[in-house]
Amino acid sequence: MARLPHPLTPGPPLCYASVGTRCRLSAHRWALVAASRLIGGHSLPPLAAEATTTVNDSTSDAAASVTGMPRALPQPCLLCGAHEGVRRTGRWHCAVCDWRVGDAPDPDLPPPRVDVVYYLRWRERIKIGTSRQPRQRLAAILHEELLAFEPGDRSLEQQRHREFADLREGGEWFRADPRLTDHIVALRGGIRPWDAYARWVADAYRR
Ligand SMILES: [Zn+2]
Repeated sequence: MARLPHPLTPGPPLCYASVGTRCRLSAHRWALVAASRLIGGHSLPPLAAEATTTVNDSTSDAAASVTGMPRALPQPCLLCGAHEGVRRTGRWHCAVCDWRVGDAPDPDLPPPRVDVVYYLRWRERIKIGTSRQPRQRLAAILHEELLAFEPGDRSLEQQRHREFADLREGGEWFRADPRLTDHIVALRGGIRPWDAYARWVADAYRR
């Protein structure tokens, strides 16, 4: 298990916490922070969107075509703006949301509604809320880190509130107990939350 610097320790790192453990010096629940950084950092195999290559010759094009290796796109994805993609069945697909590069969403149709339950961290507390417009919503909430999204609306949010009711510290804020942090790590599945959201939006456009 990779060991990461204690990210919230003031000054030089004093200790290390690995996923599923607590910091032995502070006895605080740092597992969440460590897990989050582990997933967002470089300790795991690179995510599809991160495994980019900068070579541009035709030989590499052919290799990328065969291996599905993400490469710089001829133009950014029109849905999520990503700059890397994979070539599949003769077409470029966005490496983040899998949208077919070059395709534009139908301008006559309203954007699809994609409700999410979000998990935000502020210090050692986690807010579980829901929104259909997470970019605007999260911009209005003071937080230090977006930990995860989960597809779902108010009913799922309330289900999660009931599941973790014993950890509730007020309003929609919950104590970062390992039971909750394990749930969040499982939700993320090694994918950055905004990348997962981009994929759900693309899926909704395709429906
Ligand atoms: Zn995309």
